[in-house]
Amino acid sequence: MSVSEILFVVAGALLGLAFQGGMFLFLIPFAVVAFSLAFMNRPNIPANTSVIPVIKSNKHSTALTPVVSPDLRHEFTNEAKMESNEPNSSLRVNQVWARANSDVDKAFGDILRCLKVLMPQANTLTIFTNGGAANEFRLRTFQSDIPNCIDTGAKITENMGILSQLLRPEVSRILEGDLLVGKRLTYYIENRMIRSLMGVPLLDRNDRRLGVLLVDSLHPNAFTAAEAQALTYIAQAMYLVSFKSYVSAQNFIEQQQFSVLYRYQRKFFQTMSVKDIYKQMFEYVKENMPFDRLTILALDKPKEGSGRVVYSVGMDSEQFRDKQFTLSDKGIFVLALIRNRPVIRSFDAGYIEYVPRLNDFEKRNMELRQLFVMPVSSEPDSKTAELAICLESRYSNRYQDHEKKLLKAFAGVAGFAYARACQFEKGKDLATRDGLTGLMNHRSLQEALRTEKVRADRKKYNIGILMMDIDHFKRVNDTYGHPVGDEVIKGIASAISGEIRKEIDVVARYGGEEFVVALIDTTPEGMIETAERIRKAVSKLEFNVHLTDPLRVTVSIGCFLVEPEFSDMKKAVNNADQALYKAKDGGRNQVVRFETVETEAVGV
Ligand code: GH3
Ligand code: MG
Ligand code: MG
Repeated sequence: MSVSEILFVVAGALLGLAFQGGMFLFLIPFAVVAFSLAFMNRPNIPANTSVIPVIKSNKHSTALTPVVSPDLRHEFTNEAKMESNEPNSSLRVNQVWARANSDVDKAFGDILRCLKVLMPQANTLTIFTNGGAANEFRLRTFQSDIPNCIDTGAKITENMGILSQLLRPEVSRILEGDLLVGKRLTYYIENRMIRSLMGVPLLDRNDRRLGVLLVDSLHPNAFTAAEAQALTYIAQAMYLVSFKSYVSAQNFIEQQQFSVLYRYQRKFFQTMSVKDIYKQMFEYVKENMPFDRLTILALDKPKEGSGRVVYSVGMDSEQFRDKQFTLSDKGIFVLALIRNRPVIRSFDAGYIEYVPRLNDFEKRNMELRQLFVMPVSSEPDSKTAELAICLESRYSNRYQDHEKKLLKAFAGVAGFAYARACQFEKGKDLATRDGLTGLMNHRSLQEALRTEKVRADRKKYNIGILMMDIDHFKRVNDTYGHPVGDEVIKGIASAISGEIRKEIDVVARYGGEEFVVALIDTTPEGMIETAERIRKAVSKLEFNVHLTDPLRVTVSIGCFLVEPEFSDMKKAVNNADQALYKAKDGGRNQVVRFETVETEAVGV
């Protein structure tokens, strides 16, 4: 405790007593004096001193191995073929690492040059760093009087005599002044008369060996213990330089990843449509992942265990486009869906055994040498996944930790957004579709008719309204039971759908066994023709009800043509309904047009 702190406590105690009142009131002046003294004795903190945070690292917890980048992929050049996708975002991880690496190389080179000037007796100065196998260092950079003698691929491994000592945890430096004449050091191509050798390890915070710094000389006893000690300090500084460079590279990458993920998360939550989710997944992957082929699968009919390819781009991708698949297919893409676990596979050069992606019949592409499939599921723990992002590359080690982590994070966000969109679409479907037939319900028909009418008025075309009702349907129910009646309704619904233009005309289940069709942009003749087609198609339906003869039913249809000048769609449906009454009156199984109600029935 400092003097000022003690005085503050005393002042506080005196004041406390004083506030008891009575005989203690005389303590107030003493409290004031103690307080003033305490104030004057405060420790003197210079202005503008910022507090330097102390970062405590647990032993063994350093995820990052500095000095050599964990993620350098020298074998990748930028001159990839046309169809390969190089991420165009700022997430060019290789480049960021390469930049950090070259910064470190530059710093190391400068330090060695400087040391060479300070120690003219030195012949060659080298830095070895880890990067390959465990307990093995590779030559990273050097400064030498005789550069062509140095083996740039030199390594320090175990059983290499004096140099191997630096791999051992208990050795903190080597200092030799009288090496045997003719001692060969492995980083020299030719035999050199090296007489003195000084070396220190490059250690990280946890005293793990990340490399070594070596200085040799042709003279005996060229180095002093003080110089060896100085080398230790330099090694520490070198570690810090490399550590800071790699940490800042890592931070930069993570920051970029975070902001990209965040941006997509926001984009995802601005949509409620499953189709949009597919699209955004595609865009994200294209922006952030390298690939030579990208395929996105969606198990869009999970109950039937079947789905389709929603996107496929890159090498030989045409064959996959819009292709259907089932969970019993033997492809490896499907496997990731079934297991809800990422799948990564690499194929060596010259491998023969082709691994099917979707199934055995596809074109075998032996050029794609690595595949990485990330499943996306609406519930992280579910047994199977609903979507799969399938990346393939011509390089057998293209996808590494960075890509795996990034895609996994993205899959989490995408899965959540997908679940939300599915839920929303399901809710919307329930509200707008009829559960038995899957057709539009009465309420959404009204809405559809209104929007269709607005469009028809703008483009000046007709809408044909058909109102139909199953003939003597009560009898069907009475004779065969309600479930058979339901089957009949379903059968008729799909017969109607089969006779009209999908995605253009509108069809709805209007009531129990009544249907309404709106034929968009039709003529009087076209309307009657379609109505007739539907009537005939229904009459040809056969329902198997375990009798000798199959059950057949018919429908009666009333039609009304809504021309541009006719604006009341409710009345239009009413008119069609009136025509339907006429058709029933006229003996059923026929088409009647509203205008001709008074005169004739068309087609029986
Ligand atoms: P009509 O030829 O005059 O139309 O005679 P109909 O017997 O078909 O008479 P109507 O159109 O009035 O019959 C409606 C019947 O349809 C009454 C009802 O039992 C049956 N129905 C309505 N909705 C359903 C349904 O969802 N399932 C089943 N099985 N029957 C239904
Ligand atoms: Mg009816
Ligand atoms: Mg009926």
